[in-house]
Amino acid sequence: MAGLERFLADEAATARLGEDLAMSLRPGDVLALKGDLGAGKSTLARALIRALADDAGLDVPSPTFTLVQSYETRLPVHHFDLYRLSSASELDELGFDDALAQGGAALVEWPERAEAALPDGTVWIELVHQGDGRLAKLSGQGAAIDRAARSLAM
Ligand code: ADP
Ligand code: MG
Repeated sequence: MAGLERFLADEAATARLGEDLAMSLRPGDVLALKGDLGAGKSTLARALIRALADDAGLDVPSPTFTLVQSYETRLPVHHFDLYRLSSASELDELGFDDALAQGGAALVEWPERAEAALPDGTVWIELVHQGDGRLAKLSGQGAAIDRAARSLAM
């Protein structure tokens, strides 16, 4: 499905994808960011959060050790890094379901660690190395992927 892909030639292009996705994000949305170390998951998440905050200089630390960082932006956004998660059931202890129920959105790095605990409508964004750049491949089912796909075309 060519319409659900975007080639990202450089870091700025990854950031622009994050900004475009921020426009289509709604309460309860989950974006699962897949890819190897260095694929650009954090680059995309940082740009998306800064766009929601309307603050290009906002500090967006990696949640590697805390597992989640939350931001009170116009749409509350919760940035998860599940690399150190020991089991899928631990996701609930981090307040994942509550955050969504309270009208937040979630960005999830290393979603493979808790795939079974992610909602059906999760938007999967896989970043793969392609030459010197990256290819972003979107997949999923439901309203959120439809919105994300439209924002891809921008
Ligand atoms: P991850 O969170 O997936 O481990 P990071 O976002 O921390 O990855 O790091 C990605 C690295 O790749 C950064 O050095 C960034 O500058 C670079 N990068 C991001 N997007 C691109 C791109 N589209 N093309 C080339 N380099 C990129
Ligand atoms: Mg990362």
